[in-house]
This record gives sequence, C-alpha cells and structure tokens, in this order.
Amino acid sequence: MFDSLLIANRGEIACRIAATARRLGIRVIAVYSDADAESRHVALSDAALHIGPSPARESYLDIDHLIDAIRRSGAQAVHPGYGFLSENAEFAEAVAAAGAVFVGPPPAAIRAMGSKVNAKRIMGAAGVPLVPGYHEDDQDPAVLAAAAESIGFPVLIKASAGGGGRGMRRVDSAGEFEKALEGAKREAMTGFGDDTVLIEKFVTQPRHIEMQVFADSHDNAVHLFERDCSIQRRHQKVVEEAPAPGVTPAMRTAMGDAAIAAARAIGYEGAGTVEFIVEGAKTGRSDGFYFMEMNTRLQVEHPVSEMITGQDLVEWQLTVAAGKPLPLRQDQIAANGHAIEVRLYAENPARNFMPQTGRLSHLRFPEPSPHIRVDTGIREGDSVSMYYDPMIAKIVTWDTDRSATLRRMRGALMATEIAGITTNLPFLAAIAAHPAFGAAELETGFIETHSADLIPEATPASRETLALAALAELLNIAAEAASRAGTVADAHSPWHARNGWQLSGCSETTLHFTDDAIRKSPVIAIRARPEDGGYRLFLPEGDAMVRGEMGSTGALLAEFDGARLSVTILRDGDALQIIGPGHNHRLRRADPAAATESLAVTGGRITAPMPGRVIAVHAAAGDKVRTGQALLVLEAMKMEHIVLAPGDGVIAQVRCAAGDQVADGEELLSLEKPQPANA
Ligand code: ADP
Ligand code: ADP
Ligand code: MG
Repeated sequence: MFDSLLIANRGEIACRIAATARRLGIRVIAVYSDADAESRHVALSDAALHIGPSPARESYLDIDHLIDAIRRSGAQAVHPGYGFLSENAEFAEAVAAAGAVFVGPPPAAIRAMGSKVNAKRIMGAAGVPLVPGYHEDDQDPAVLAAAAESIGFPVLIKASAGGGGRGMRRVDSAGEFEKALEGAKREAMTGFGDDTVLIEKFVTQPRHIEMQVFADSHDNAVHLFERDCSIQRRHQKVVEEAPAPGVTPAMRTAMGDAAIAAARAIGYEGAGTVEFIVEGAKTGRSDGFYFMEMNTRLQVEHPVSEMITGQDLVEWQLTVAAGKPLPLRQDQIAANGHAIEVRLYAENPARNFMPQTGRLSHLRFPEPSPHIRVDTGIREGDSVSMYYDPMIAKIVTWDTDRSATLRRMRGALMATEIAGITTNLPFLAAIAAHPAFGAAELETGFIETHSADLIPEATPASRETLALAALAELLNIAAEAASRAGTVADAHSPWHARNGWQLSGCSETTLHFTDDAIRKSPVIAIRARPEDGGYRLFLPEGDAMVRGEMGSTGALLAEFDGARLSVTILRDGDALQIIGPGHNHRLRRADPAAATESLAVTGGRITAPMPGRVIAVHAAAGDKVRTGQALLVLEAMKMEHIVLAPGDGVIAQVRCAAGDQVADGEELLSLEKPQPANA
C-alpha cells in the first residue's frame, strides 16, 4: 500500500477520500485554490499545497500546477476524485510520468469511454445492449436528420464528449430537428471543445439504473450491485438508492454480466460505473435495459453501494491501484438492506434550480450512526462560492428495507438545519415525503411530473411560525430591557422593568414582520398583549396565547395553542429565521424606529430615501394611520425597505403606485396631522 496520497480534488469527495486514507495510515496531501485556503478538506490533510487562483481552470483543472504539486510533495499516488480531471487521460499519463500512481483506470480505458460514440461502438461489439441509435463519424446534418427519421421520434441528440447532462436535446418531430442539432452542437463545442453528436431513441418514462463495477490487474472483475438514479433534474441526479426497487434477480444478473463485459472489453481496472437506461417505469424485464455510458471514476453516489455491501470503495480503489487483487470474489459480495442518498445543493428549486452562493451562517447535520451518513466538505461559517459545484452535502440513510430507510431519510432531513443560503432541503424533504416516491414510482421525469407537489408556490409563514417569531422577538425585547436594567444607573425606571406588563410603558406592543418566502411580502402586524406570564397575540387569523423561554443558543421552547414546540431561532441583522420540525422560514423585522430614520420627512412629505422601485403600497388617500404602520415597500439595492408612518395622521395623497421607479428624494406620500375629533 502507499505511504502518501495526493487528492487532486476539493469539497466533500476530497474529505471522503482523506478519511479512508487516514484510516489506512496513508499520509494525506491536499491541494487548494485561493478560495479554498481555509476549507475543510485542507484542515483534514497532513499537508496542503496551493495550486492557484480560485477559478477551476487555473487550479483544480490545471494539469501543470497539479503535477508540480505532486513532484513537490513526493506523493506516491494521486486520487482524482470525481469531476475535474478524474476522466482526463492526459492527466492520468502525466501523473505516471511524474512517477506517481494514478488511482483510476489505465489512460486507454478512459479514452475508450470518453467519447460516447466510441464507447457505443465498443459496447455494441462486446454484445452489450445499446439504445437504438446512430453513432457514426459522418456528422453531415442531412445524414443526422435522416438517421433521426429512421430511428423514429422522439430522439435524443447527445454530445459525444458530453457529461453532467449538458449538450443534450430531446427532439419530438422532424421539424424541430435542425434547430435542436444546432443547439446541441453549440453547447457541446463551448462545453467540451468537440461538437460530435450521436442520436438515440428517446426512451419514454425510463429509469436510470447503473451498475458499480470493479476490476483489478489480475483479470478479476466483479460488480457491487446496482443503483437507481432516476430522480433527476436537468438530467442530473438528485436522489439515488441501492438496490434499485423492482429489479428482479434475473435482471440484476443480466445487467451485472453486461457491465462486467463492458469493463473487460476495455481492459478496465479500478472503480467504474456502467449506466443503463431502463425501459418502462416498473419493468422487471431482464432485456429492457440499454447501455448509456461508462463513467471511469468513483461516482458521486457511491455511498449507497457502500452502505448495502459494507465495503469501502475508496479502499478498494487504493488496493487495486497498488497492484493487489480485488478484496472479494463475486460470490463473496452480498447486499444487505437498503440505502438512499440525497444531494443537498445550494440552489433554488423555485427558480429552475439556480445555483446559489453565500455563507452558511448556521449548519447542523443529523448525528452520524450506522443508519445515517453525511459526507460534506463544508462547515458552519464556510461559503459556497461561484467557482465550484454548489453541492453542500450528501445525506445517506440505511435500514433493512426501503420504507424504513425512507423514514430515516425523512428524519435526517428534518434534523438538518441551514441558514444563510437558499438550498434544496425543503425540496428533498418533499421528495422523501411524496407518496409516489414512497411507492417507488421511479422514472427520470419524476421531478417534472410532480413539480407542483415538490416545488410548491412559496407558502406564507403559518400562524404557528408567526407566533414563534413574535414570541422570540418579545422575549428578546424583554431580555434587552432586563440587561439594561442591570447596567443603567436608573434601574428603577419603569422602562427597565423586567415584567413584560410594563415593558413598553403600556400593555401592548405591535411587531411588524415581512416574510422572505413571499416576493413583495406585505407587512404583517402582530399586536401582543402580556397575559398570564406569556402573551396574547392578535395574529392575522384570530388571537392565541403563546409563552416560552429562549435558551442561549437560540433554542426556543414554546407553548402555542396548547402545544409544546421546540425550534431554533437564528438572527441575522433584522432577519429572524425559524428552524425546526415543520418550520423553515425567514421573517424580517420591520423596525419602526429604524425605518423612520432612513426616511426623509419634511412637513408631512414622505420621500424616497434612495432610488428604487415601489413594490407595494399599503395606504390610500384618506386612510387614518398610526405611528409605525407600514405604508409602502420600496425595493432598492436588492433589499426591500418598508416605509412606515413617522407619526399618527391621515394620508393626504399617495403619489406613487406599485411598479413605479422612484428617484432619490422623490415624494411618495404626504401625511396630515389628524383632525381634532370635534373640529
Ligand atoms: P454523476 O453520475 O456522478 O452524477 P455527472 O456527470 O453528473 O456524474 O457529474 C459528476 C460530477 O462531476 C458532478 O457531481 C460534479 O461535481 C462534477 N462536474 C459536473 N460537471 C462539471 C463541470 N462542468 N466542471 C467541473 N466538475 C463538474
Ligand atoms: P451524461 O454524460 O451527461 O451523464 P448520459 O448519457 O449518462 O449523459 O445521460 C444522462 C441522463 O439523460 C440519463 O440519466 C437519462 O436521464 C437521460 N437519458 C440519456 N439517454 C436517454 C435516452 N436515450 N432516452 C431517454 N433519456 C435518456
Ligand atoms: Mg451519465
């Protein structure tokens, strides 16, 4: 075995590889870009070398910089992880030339599978079933169009050099072909520098099922069962599981044999995955699968295979790379129970899964156990940058059967807390809770089919969420008053009383919130009256009692409508995030005092404090308003500013409407002093 291993990658996979290396007593050498200097994978290493600026092209994808790091560190072996240079034959050759062992297949095997066109030809010759299609060199658009016609629509145009779901176009009729071809070629050229395409029959309602294979340099090749990766968005996997539900032993054997034949056909060594497209959402037919491609590396979703086989695939990779035989024969590899993985991404499902960047101000994962595994490269306080893949973590659960595993997944997602950045956590929880997923109705269109359930319209904060937020604020105000009472000389002033009754000199307080989940959120006013050691809240749909106490770490223990609740409250400026079972909401405190300050008020004229856009007007001429009442919402500098009434009065005139662009200092409304009642 090796004494040292350089990991030419970052993030969760670098951390995951480091864990096995460390367990085996191998010295771990990390590499990092500028953006990753303080990252978890660097912290977990024995030595770390800087390989360049943040953009991947200048660091993790720069072969020269990496080879230099390999030479400088004297690493005996190099693990490429997945993505980046993991399927780059030139890199594998350069590593060998630098005197280190590449933990991966021989460069020739990488090359054979790097082109989908080439791979299909080799696989066809090896007797592996292929999707009916065209995979020839002739790229004349007329020839391609004729091929599509003879295959029969719908077809899928794919970039031969493609990956990560890019460079693909589904074509439903001959009329759309030309445009789709242009699009696929353009994407392939910019993404992969090669616009060769192939055409395949588009399999309707298919499943993506793949086999994990392993081969060594002693002519042994085995499979470690299959994974179902049908839950995809934009042709990219989001949820994976092993074994694949509904696959019969006959089909498993047939797919395993085909996968091993594929590996043998290209002289494979190490870990690989043979991806199949499987016809019919619930097929158990042993002949209903077709070869799609082979990934010549460790796969993102390898943990589900590890969970059911009890094997460490990174250890297997190192064993094979060290020239030793595979640890087990096929008949010694057994599958036990069921495992599911979800990929937690910094992305916004409601905006077409747009990647998000930002700092994770709060991050809690479920406690690891034999049932729960969390692979991550990110700690609380770290940032997801624009430079790399926005995956935050993989959460994997295991149990003896699928429904128990799924139950554990729901629990694990419930126990995951994130603040500071938008993620797909609620979306993953919705998949895990969906009856169709529970019934294993898996197909690659699952997310699209069920998008209305999985990506619900933003739901406004519930009564319970509002009550908890209000309680947290009220307790905070009380605590501040109490601490001021302790430090200020005049501790007997009624303003500093600890008792909520006297808190603001009167028996009532009104809190104003806006809801971050709602675009153009109206201001929600919640009146609170101290009562019975708690507060009576006048919520949008009637009043209710709430009481409770706040722990030092943001834990709020509350009683609302007679139920006991426990949530976490996170503060970030004027934002308040409520996290807990059934809650993940960000509310923003609309502080009357602060808003008034930012408002220019001259003789009853309320003017815009900065240039912006009016997004909502909550007042009309003639309305009686009270101090602190929200009058309108202004969007400026990417933030929403709530304009509140600076004093009691009557709206004389409204000079703007929702949608208006307003200049700095422009008059928005005018306010008159209230007329004396008996005037
Ligand atoms: P898998 O089947 O393992 O999900 P993908 O082809 O979807 O395979 O991508 C594998 C991994 O490679 C992704 O999870 C991602 O981290 C990485 N990857 C995908 N596209 C890119 C890219 N353009 N640049 C760098 N890494 C990428
Ligand atoms: P990539 O290299 O981008 O991973 P793949 O060939 O593995 O490309 O295909 C990615 C995904 O596209 C598959 O998991 C599947 O959902 C879908 N797909 C691929 N080929 C077909 C096909 N012939 N019919 C229907 N869907 C397909
Ligand atoms: Mg693929």
